[in-house]
Amino acid sequence: MKIIMLGAPGAGKGTQAINIAKEYDIPHVSTGDIFRANIKNGTELGKAAKEYMDAGKLVPDEITIGMLLDRISEEDCKNGYVLDGFPRTIPQAESLKDALTKRGEKIDFAVDIEVPDTEITARMTGRRSCPKCGATYHIKFNPTKQEGVCDECGGELVQRADDKPETVEKRLHVYHEQTQPLIDFYEKEGVLCTIDGTVAPKDVFKAITEVLS
Ligand code: ADP
Ligand code: AMP
Repeated sequence: MKIIMLGAPGAGKGTQAINIAKEYDIPHVSTGDIFRANIKNGTELGKAAKEYMDAGKLVPDEITIGMLLDRISEEDCKNGYVLDGFPRTIPQAESLKDALTKRGEKIDFAVDIEVPDTEITARMTGRRSCPKCGATYHIKFNPTKQEGVCDECGGELVQRADDKPETVEKRLHVYHEQTQPLIDFYEKEGVLCTIDGTVAPKDVFKAITEVLS
């Protein structure tokens, strides 16, 4: 199964993509996580991506598309994957479609998690993530058992540099301008599923599994 997660930054794409990956035994492919791992390891790709990420902008398509297409060509992706954070622009969606069409493949579901902008800032400023395993929490809405420690792997949680209120505003603006048009794109492809993202994470997941099964 090949699934795309759509939605504003902070809508809950990562939270649900991890659940989907576990449930369907497919890899969770997050372009944001790949960029952050490259930044941590000081690679050239990381250096190129960092300035855009810190400014709340999108990393250019010329960098992002090739990186993602390489990742989904790897062996563990042969039975499907859940893409989290890609595509974010129409050229990214078209490149993905072209690459899949060449292999006789297609996206099965584009899951759009809808959350109004008024809820996004609180979600993102309270977000804490585990750099070791990628798990995501929220200090109020989804707290860990022990403060600052990942429930999954015991890693030390961090606050993302781009989750500051000013950067969140910028990212939301970029989302509406460049990423929201993908909702129409996938509706036309006949694979769009719209999910209410304002309910508790476990209920969002329940709604997603009902649609996918
Ligand atoms: P995205 O990947 O779309 O940027 P995340 O999955 O990282 O979003 O979620 C953003 C923040 O909101 C995190 O702190 C997460 O724990 C929290 N969150 C996720 N889903 C919900 C929900 N349904 N209700 C409340 N908070 C949520
Ligand atoms: P995320 O972890 O999905 O919130 O992504 C964090 C940041 O990484 C974004 O604000 C962008 O700067 C960058 N990024 C992640 N995915 C993409 C993408 N598909 N296209 C461009 N930039 C991306």
